[in-house]
Parts: sequence; C-alpha cells; structure tokens
Amino acid sequence: MIYFDNASTTSVRPEVARVYKKLIDESFANADAMHTPGRKVHRQVEQAREHIARSLGVKEGEILFTSCASESNSLALVGYILANRQRGNHILTSNVEHSSTKHAIDFLESQGFEVERLPISEEGVVTPETVRSHMRKDTILVTLMHVNNEIGSINPIGRIADVVHEHPTCVFHSDCVQSFGKIDIPFDKLDMATISAHKIHGVKGSALLMKKSRIALHPIVFGGQQEQGLRGGTENAPANIVLAKTIRLALEEQKDTYAHVKEIRDFLVREISAFPGGHINSPKDALPYILNVSFDQLTSEVLLNALDERGICVSAKSTCDSRSSHASEVVLALNHSPKYAEQAIRLSFSKDNSLEEAKQFMKAMKEIVQNYGLSL
Ligand code: PLP
Repeated sequence: MIYFDNASTTSVRPEVARVYKKLIDESFANADAMHTPGRKVHRQVEQAREHIARSLGVKEGEILFTSCASESNSLALVGYILANRQRGNHILTSNVEHSSTKHAIDFLESQGFEVERLPISEEGVVTPETVRSHMRKDTILVTLMHVNNEIGSINPIGRIADVVHEHPTCVFHSDCVQSFGKIDIPFDKLDMATISAHKIHGVKGSALLMKKSRIALHPIVFGGQQEQGLRGGTENAPANIVLAKTIRLALEEQKDTYAHVKEIRDFLVREISAFPGGHINSPKDALPYILNVSFDQLTSEVLLNALDERGICVSAKSTCDSRSSHASEVVLALNHSPKYAEQAIRLSFSKDNSLEEAKQFMKAMKEIVQNYGLSL
C-alpha cells in the first residue's frame, strides 16, 4: 500500500502505541478520584499538560484537553461567543475553513451574529490587509486556519494576529491542525489554537485547545470540574498523557521530516507538471505536506478509485466532506475553475513516505491514463 492520505490521518508511532497500551492497562483510574491510583493518574495528566505547555511556550493552565480538533474548534468558537457576546456582533472567518469551523460559524450566524467569510488570494491565503480592511469596532472574533487542509496554503497568522490585536476587544483563533509539528506556530500571538493528535502520528480521540488565561469560555460539553469546568466528562487520561510524547517527538523531528517530505513533494510537482494533462492546484509556497493536483479528463472520483485499485490511498478533498458529491470548494475558491475543482485530488505526505513511492505513483498514473485510453 502507498498511503498518501496523511492530512486525513496518520499512522500511530509504535513508541506512542506502546506507551498508550501500557497506560490503558495501568493508568485506568479516574483522574478525579480521590484514591491513590486516581491521584497518580491525575499527576500524570498534569505532568503531560505541563510538558505540552512548555513545548508550545504557553502556561500550563492554557492547555485544555479535548477529544478531537472538531471539538476544540467548536469550544473555541461557540464557547467564546457564549461567554463574551456583549463584546460585539461581527465575526470574521474565511471561505475555505475546515467543516468543523465552518459549521460552528454557520451556527453562530443562525443565532444572529453577522459573519463575513473573507476570500483567499491567488496564493490561497487571507492576507493581513484583507483582515484589516474588514475589521470593525464590533468585531468580536476572527478565526482563520494556519494551513489549509486541501491545498496546503499557509496563512500568515502571526501578522494577522497583530492586525486583530489592534482592536483590543477582538480575539484571534487559529486552527493549527495541519501545521503543528510541520512548521513553527507563533503561539505567543494567538489567543486560541487547535491541535489534533491523530494528524501527528498520535492516537485518535485526542486533541487540545490552547487558550490564553485571559480568555473566558463557556462550556459546550456540560459536566463536572474537568478541564477547569470547561469540558465535562471523565478525562481520557491515557490519550492526554501520551499526547505529551506525541508532541515532543513531532517537534523533535519537525525539521528533518519537513526536508524529507519536501523532496517527495518537489519530485511530484516536477513530474506532474510535465505529465500530459497534469495540473498543480496547490500554490507554490504551500506546505510541502499537502499537494493538490488535477489530471485532465479524470474526475476526482474516477481517479481516486483507479488509484485505490492499485493500492494507492489519496483523497478527493477534505475527508470530513468526502461523502458529499460536490467538487472541492477550496480549489474552486483558489482558481475559480470548476474543471480543476471536479478533478482535484489531494496527496498528503508524512515521515512514512518515500521517493520510491512517489515514483510508483507516477507509474500508476501512466497506466491509468493508458487504460482509460485518454489522449492527453
Ligand atoms: N481542522 C483541520 C484543518 C483538519 O484538517 C481536520 C481534520 O481533517 C480537523 C480540523 C478535524 O480534526 P479531528 O478529526 O481531530 O476532529
């Protein structure tokens, strides 16, 4: 199998899996229980929180464990608005956010908030100038992802945060799911940021929301005292504890993995650009981990299935939207071409991939084009 679908999810690192298994076996007590095993698990969770906070350069109390990035985004956006609604009525986001952000913002719009969805530039980003020109006195919240999950474009979130903070009553949240462990993130400038474990070779059901102490949130999952009373439910202690190791390893290997993945991406960009009918949708400066491409006369669905038959896993668009039949809205927003959007496929890479796999992918593409008798 060739697995080029790492933006969807990644393999679990064996060393993470080993620790996780041990924790499930040995650290199963409820972290809020007052007996000795419970206290021990509580200490382990708090140590993990401390390590993660240090890695991100934030305070320990600024890390909230959640079950997935979709939950973190929902808590950040809906939770912030519920706790701060008197601050304003205007929300800024983009037209290419992940569905978890998109649907949380749609919900807030249905509750009477005025939402503006900023367009992306030819490079696939929302510029700080665009944000500045849309900021208003009553803008309460700006949310923009760091790296786009379909095309890999990188929003300049540090500079955008500076623009947002020119308005003292507004806060900035960024979905950093596709950037964490791949490029540096300016956590010092962000009010809230979302990270998911399963995109960085961690376990599923594990994520976090970084939220600065000065930011007030309202819970969206009601329950007990867990996570500062902001997220009810018994702690998923093994997942939270092992997240510290997952994050440490991702950050330790960030530079080397980036170089490795870039070599694979650069090879494919050269090959696909020279391939008859091949087209690169991702912008030039995109993160090398995500490469969005189209091939003339092959719709996303046909190509995805033909590659799957050959043991090659790719996505047509975001996996969370994979069952909907419409073309990629992100590719459409980028180059305004329904043709490229209908033919778009996303190749996404990780430390597990090799240049040899990229060569096999190109070989498979030649076979597919021949089999379909396409005159490209
Ligand atoms: N945000 C982005 C940018 C993503 O790519 C994804 C996953 O596809 C998510 C959020 C949702 O992540 P999770 O599966 O942890 O809810």
